[in-house]
Amino acid sequence: MDLETIYKDAGALLEGHFILSSGNHSSKYLQSAKVLEDPSRAEMLTVSLAQVIRESGIEVDTVCAPALGGVIAGYELARALGARSIFVERKNGVMELRRGFEVANGEKVIICEDIITTGGSAMEAAEIMLELGADVVAFAALANRGFCSRTGSDKEPKPECRLPKDVPFFALGDFEFEIYPPNECPMCANGSEAIKPGSRGN
Ligand code: ZN
Repeated sequence: MDLETIYKDAGALLEGHFILSSGNHSSKYLQSAKVLEDPSRAEMLTVSLAQVIRESGIEVDTVCAPALGGVIAGYELARALGARSIFVERKNGVMELRRGFEVANGEKVIICEDIITTGGSAMEAAEIMLELGADVVAFAALANRGFCSRTGSDKEPKPECRLPKDVPFFALGDFEFEIYPPNECPMCANGSEAIKPGSRGN
C-alpha cells in the first residue's frame, strides 16, 4: 500500500511552505482528517490496519480513541476488528472517559489515533484505560509521523516518542518530513513566504 499516494489523492498531504504548530517550517503538511472524509477510503485503510493487527495474533476487545482526532479511525478500526468502540475526551484540558462508557477489569484495549506524532494523547488515553483496570495490548494509527517506531520497522524511535517500547505500535506507514527552524529554512532563503495551514480556509 502506497500510503503517501493515498493521502495525496485525498488532499490530506499538502505540499508547499508551511508554518507548523511548533513554529518550524516544512514543505509538507498532513491534514489527517481529510483522508477519512470518504468512508470507503476510511474502511479500506482500517481494514488493512486490522489485518496487520490480526496477523500479530493480538486479541482485542475494545478500541479506545482520544477525541477528536482518533474517533473516526478508532470507530472504523473497531468495526474491522469486530471490537467495541469507545473514546476519551478532554474536559478542561484533562482527558476523561465520559458519556457512560465503561471498561471492565482485564478488558483488552487497543488505543487508536488517526496519526501518531509523539504519542502524547495516545498515552493519556492509555493511562485512563490502565487506571480503570483494562489491559492496553497495543497502540495503532493509520500513519506514524516518524517519531515513534512502528511494529515491523527497524527504525529507532526518536527521543520525542512517548509510547512505551514494550507495547506494539501498529501503523500502515511512516511520514517523515524535513522540518526547519525559520532561520534555517531553505524555502525562506529562496524568498518564499510560509503560510499557516488552514489560514486559507482549508
Ligand atoms: Zn520557511
